[in-house]
Amino acid sequence: MSGIDSVPGAGRFAPSPSGDLHIGNLRSGLLAYVRARQTGRRFLWRIEDLDRVRAGSAQSQLDVFAELGVTADEEPLIQSQRHAVYAAAIAELDAAGRVFECYCSRKDIAQAPSAPHAPPGAYPGTCRHLGDGEREEQRERLARDGRQPALRLRADNREHHVDDVLLGRVDALVDDLVLRRGDGVFAYNLTVVVDDGASGVDEVLRGDDLAASAPRQAYLARLLGLAEPAWVHVPLVLNAGGQRLAKRDGAVTYQQLRSVGWSVADVFAWMQQSLGFGGLRWTTVDDMVSGVEFAHMSTTPTVFVPPSES
Ligand code: GLU
Repeated sequence: MSGIDSVPGAGRFAPSPSGDLHIGNLRSGLLAYVRARQTGRRFLWRIEDLDRVRAGSAQSQLDVFAELGVTADEEPLIQSQRHAVYAAAIAELDAAGRVFECYCSRKDIAQAPSAPHAPPGAYPGTCRHLGDGEREEQRERLARDGRQPALRLRADNREHHVDDVLLGRVDALVDDLVLRRGDGVFAYNLTVVVDDGASGVDEVLRGDDLAASAPRQAYLARLLGLAEPAWVHVPLVLNAGGQRLAKRDGAVTYQQLRSVGWSVADVFAWMQQSLGFGGLRWTTVDDMVSGVEFAHMSTTPTVFVPPSES
């Protein structure tokens, strides 16, 4: 085949710039970098700043990774600069008859009777089959409140699956997912798929809290004529109560850990210990690149007990 086969694929880290990264986010981002280096892929960075942005956070996340020895191979992709690209993707789906307006509030969806085997929160199909007259009425109703309809994908409402490198087969119902929210913000599932496709990301490594989203993203990629990436969902780092790490848990962010005395080498030593890899103590990202063996990686979450702040 032609030279295109020799263009390396890419992996990526795509944090939301909504605050400081905690040790679990760091671990996922570092693993994405490690995986890209081990597999000869480019390592890309995406700033997912369509929602919940905290000023300065995107730069600070890049700075933290630079301190850890990680920089992306290309300029970061910034989602807030790509509205036209997302709109074009929706137009393409619309031309294929795959988009409908939805006038439901969250409450409407929560209260609607759902299909027998649908998981909680699945879209019950309320606005899927409305006629033109009903749509006009609903549009006017929302407009009176200064709102606009959301746009949803007309999916086939069946289970789809992906094959994950660590988790094996992951099945999930693909419902009529939101493409553009009622507040006009392009939805996460759409932007991730469009951006991964546009950047040549052919393997997605991220936290396993997003594993259940992979079948819908793979489905959407197919509809948009994009290749489905490979998937590697890595275990999360949780607090002692088994929940996501949060500020109230103590020193959990890179900045906090540094301020209680952790060095960069300590961060890597913790990565090694938490991932359960032996050998010489890791002190740099290159040690981590040499030391991680994905074939022997556990899929169980790690509990992080923050060091005391005194
Ligand atoms: N921005 C998402 C997050 O911070 C990650 C998106 C993805 O990796 O697909 O949770």
